[in-house]
Amino acid sequence: MIPPAWRICWRPWVYVPVDAAEGADMVILNTCHIREKATEKVYSELGKLKQLKMRRAEAGNPMLVAVAGCVAQAEGAEIMARQPAVDMIVGPQSYHRLPEMIARVAREGGHALETDFPAEGKFDHLPEERAATGATAFLTIQEGCDKFCTFCVVPYTRGAEFSRPVVQIAEEAWRLAGNGVVEITLLGQNVNAYLGEGPDGTKWGLARLIRHLARIEAVKRLRYTTSHPRDMDDDLIAAHGDVEALMPYLHLPVQSGSDRVLAAMNRGHTAADYLRIVARMREARPDIALSSDFIVGFPGESDSDFEATMALVREIGYAQAFSFKYSARPGTPAAAAPRQIPDAVKDERLQTLQALLTAQQNAFNRSCEGREFSVLFEKPGRRQGQGVGRSPYLQAGACRRRRPADRRASHREDHRGAAEFAARRACGCCGTVKAKGGRALNPRHGTASDTREQVTLEFKRNALLSALAGSHSRNLVRLEQKLGVRLAQRGNLISIEGPPEQRERATLVMRALYRRLEAGEDSHPGRCRRGDQLHRARCA
Ligand code: SF4
Repeated sequence: MIPPAWRICWRPWVYVPVDAAEGADMVILNTCHIREKATEKVYSELGKLKQLKMRRAEAGNPMLVAVAGCVAQAEGAEIMARQPAVDMIVGPQSYHRLPEMIARVAREGGHALETDFPAEGKFDHLPEERAATGATAFLTIQEGCDKFCTFCVVPYTRGAEFSRPVVQIAEEAWRLAGNGVVEITLLGQNVNAYLGEGPDGTKWGLARLIRHLARIEAVKRLRYTTSHPRDMDDDLIAAHGDVEALMPYLHLPVQSGSDRVLAAMNRGHTAADYLRIVARMREARPDIALSSDFIVGFPGESDSDFEATMALVREIGYAQAFSFKYSARPGTPAAAAPRQIPDAVKDERLQTLQALLTAQQNAFNRSCEGREFSVLFEKPGRRQGQGVGRSPYLQAGACRRRRPADRRASHREDHRGAAEFAARRACGCCGTVKAKGGRALNPRHGTASDTREQVTLEFKRNALLSALAGSHSRNLVRLEQKLGVRLAQRGNLISIEGPPEQRERATLVMRALYRRLEAGEDSHPGRCRRGDQLHRARCA
């Protein structure tokens, strides 16, 4: 996805987005240092772009290549030295300088590198985005991090914590509301460390900012992510109880349930601190849905440390969570720590943890059966007439119009094995509706009447997985029909949901298709060759 800031950055230069690098006059690789082997992936993509750039140059069509994002920030000079095809390197704090860099390189040739943390804030220089953005939007209020967790590169690539002034944020929120946005998610690497200058000249924390934004009547929903347990102050906890627009969902990463591991991670809190915060959150907002991040196999993590994580998860009961195996990020203290954990151990622990988290997620979704709450439909679904959206608890849901003529009257869920629900108000992917009488708002995650469960597969390359999923996930829809499961792609992850047997078969098929793409073979799911070893799995 193209970050909105870039779209507006290149507007003065009349660049417009295109679908493929082949037809582009400029290619920007946006990189993320959080991903495993991020640098290797960048060099591999740059190798391909170099060939393309040469072919285009021979045909008289010059092409500019830029590398942006955290890898550019961390290793910009080296990338420039190793890969001469790169014309520009731009770090995350310097995106507003991109038009000037393009002009310089186009005019004078040579290279441009901007990886400083400039004194002027990029938010003061990015032009206003006026285009309609749909029903939901992200609004960056904070960047950077001062926490220095020992496994994380963010403090090195994004710099120190910086908070935008309240007035600037409120203006942007009003503009978004004017464009039809009804849900705003406030973003920050450490969003609840927000401490921005208020209109009265004093420093405002996140809770005060939320109360201020909640006065925009057109904005019905507010969320924020990602937060740190150390910054969950009293006012923010109280805001969950008394700000109606603040959704009952909190993503609060804990990473581990072991105090020993938490100390080694430099998290600055204990498991007991985290449990106390959760208890207070539940006091303020009893129906709050909790989500978290977990790292298993951190250097030195023993069986009993891992068991402490399992105990914490059992005690809390999450509505959803993200869990990963520890993988070293170059330059971080943990990368050089002794007692790295073997991959097989990490795999086993991750599976054990994910089984528990999936069971908790299913239990949470089942607990929503029969309840009535609002669903914000954000965009069209894969099927005709379908809208997909989110519950207040951030559960994905979908519905389909019963009859085109009756569009304003009712909606019906369109998921196999799922209960139906009727909606009271208009959908059309435009606003809040009431879901009523349904047994399961989010049938993707299980209903009372079946034993569907979910497994998530991780692949190395986002781009290959996107090719496998096809435009608008068309290939996934075909595979769903053939395999009798539900498939969803997010980044380099594919989740498969369905009865155990179908799920297993789908796992085999997805892995095999991915391997084929990796090997450069066609893996179009619609074209299945008889005699082919995948044929049985796909079409039997
Ligand atoms: S608080 Fe989050 S962003 Fe900051 S160092 Fe820790 S993991 Fe990274």
